[in-house]
Amino acid sequence: MISRINSETRLYVLIGDPVEHSFSPLMHNAAFQFRGINSVYLTLQVKSDGLGDAIKGIKSMGILGLNVTIPHKVSIMKYLDKIDSNAKNIGAVNTVINKDGGLIGYNTDGAGALAALKRGNGDPAGKKVVLLGAGGAARAISFSIAPFASRLVVLNRTRSKATSLVKAIKKRLNINIAGEELTINTLSRELADTELLINTTSVGMFPKIEETLVDRHLIKPNMVVFDIIYNPPETRLLREATASGAKALNGINMLVNQGALSFKLWIGLKPPIDVMLRAINRELRGG
Ligand code: NAP
Repeated sequence: MISRINSETRLYVLIGDPVEHSFSPLMHNAAFQFRGINSVYLTLQVKSDGLGDAIKGIKSMGILGLNVTIPHKVSIMKYLDKIDSNAKNIGAVNTVINKDGGLIGYNTDGAGALAALKRGNGDPAGKKVVLLGAGGAARAISFSIAPFASRLVVLNRTRSKATSLVKAIKKRLNINIAGEELTINTLSRELADTELLINTTSVGMFPKIEETLVDRHLIKPNMVVFDIIYNPPETRLLREATASGAKALNGINMLVNQGALSFKLWIGLKPPIDVMLRAINRELRGG
């Protein structure tokens, strides 16, 4: 790919802070190479107080597309010329297209999670879903699955964030949904009749890989347990789900699908999902 860089090579970037551990360059550069697109994807560390200047630079230098990560997913919205309705509902943007000098914001996290669930035989359609967490990823996923689930229960350590997420969804969708504090009692009550459990918190993520929010005795063999963490690929929650006979899905397919949706928005071509997945799996296996 490097040998093809020339004066016509176009640039796509991830902005955030930190960005050095991101897998996005691996999957997008693999996709550009596979599709024969003369573009490169780089990470740019942008501090919070430099976001406005970075956006001006992106416009003036004609960078064609961005991914946006922590801490800019919300704060970037005020700099954009247009925001699609899904990203507006979620209240965060993770993908931007620079079209004719105007920046348009999207959020592909929720659709990426839904695609990963369907691909892993964990379709939420008609199921009661318990979702742990009410942060950025939880908001995106809730808005995507709420229209299909028979009931959605959001449990979060900080109760007010769960209730405000539920309020935001109820304003737009007439669905069976509730939000409560995440406690041993609420978890045990809600998991008793749940078919799909989704962890969107960072509990269990590297380096604190032995942490889990869910007692293994609460996991039933008929459950699908989706942990959106991808590092490690098998969290303690997923290890215990498998040991309990439940179906375990990790965050790698969500990562790849949200990236594939960004690729589609930027390039307008079918993303090579398997190529992108292979690039990430190679890295997770140690290169
Ligand atoms: P975020 O906005 O900071 O939200 C973090 C969530 O985790 C909050 O609900 C927080 O609860 C909860 N939490 C953190 N520590 C906790 C603890 N000790 N006990 C209970 N709850 C705790 O982060 P995010 O952007 O949503 O990301 C969350 C996770 O998803 C990260 O691990 C990230 O890597 C992963 N992720 C994966 C993908 C993918 O493509 N697979 C995409 C996006 C994110 P409070 O509200 O009480 O603080």
